[in-house]
Amino acid sequence: MSNKQQHMLKKEEINFFDMSIQFISPKKSILDDENKKRPEWLCQGVPCAVLYQNETNTTIKPFNKSSNYNITNETIKNDFNILARDEQYVYADGYPNGKINIIEFTISPISVKNLVKHYDNYPLLKILLEKADQDAYHSKGMNDCITVKDYLSKKNIDNDTTSKLERIGDPILNRSTRHTIPIPNTYTREEFEKNPSYPAPIGIRDSDFALPSEQNAILRELIRQIFCCVNAPELSYELKVEFGIDNIIPNSHGCEWCGELVDISKLNQDYCSKEHSINFCHRDPAVGTKNGNVYIGHCSCNREQGGYSETQRIEQIVRIAKYNPLYREMIMNALKL
Ligand SMILES: [Zn+2]
Repeated sequence: MSNKQQHMLKKEEINFFDMSIQFISPKKSILDDENKKRPEWLCQGVPCAVLYQNETNTTIKPFNKSSNYNITNETIKNDFNILARDEQYVYADGYPNGKINIIEFTISPISVKNLVKHYDNYPLLKILLEKADQDAYHSKGMNDCITVKDYLSKKNIDNDTTSKLERIGDPILNRSTRHTIPIPNTYTREEFEKNPSYPAPIGIRDSDFALPSEQNAILRELIRQIFCCVNAPELSYELKVEFGIDNIIPNSHGCEWCGELVDISKLNQDYCSKEHSINFCHRDPAVGTKNGNVYIGHCSCNREQGGYSETQRIEQIVRIAKYNPLYREMIMNALKL
């Protein structure tokens, strides 16, 4: 295989299970701006498969990026750690249980575009599918994340006396893939400022983290729910097979908060502007968009639940009812079949 071919290797063409493939990770976040119109952060701790090395450069495939990166050998030597691996896992601190199953490196996102193109006549359905795609695969934004322009102008931050009083940057990236390294909720500003990456971002919110296999599972489940809504078109047998979606029962999907069926024709272009327009609801908002925690429900119901989890709401009701016989009776009567 020629050098060029090695450099261009797509994810599907790489055998990550091959024990000769080495994994490394950056000691601090790196801005990959070489020949790129839109420079991207390569975050500290993210495992990268080494694909090819010549006298000057090394081609790597970062776990959380779709493209390969070309890094100078000097940077590789100074700013990267070699990670342990075996036939099943790559060991990477910062990821859940300190390891990633190698199969996760081989999983590609499901293309919602390929599904959307079959539903030109259903603009509301397209909006929902695209929102499902956004939620399944992308972490939320962070306005405080340092911009590339500011980062490059403040690179020598220690010599920059004007910046001392200013709060610069944030550990959380402004949007990224959901299998970027998760930052614990307990991580403090002080820790960030002492981090060698500072003021560059170092990861995503813990609640946004999901491995590629879970992201696909989340998307499949959301697509399934969308096609179970009232006024949803049919998902053909071929598309069910292509996207691995099963168990579609038309007109069956209900909002868990109020129990009513969800009607996709009620989705407003003005998102959430009217009662009973549609929203992506979380059983526990603190857990985020994880498999089993998100469902398609109503905006008004989502507002009623507020920032509490379903369990917390139940606990509140139980507490009130415990000392008030009238409420207890109301609940008992309401639950009678
Ligand atoms: Zn509802």
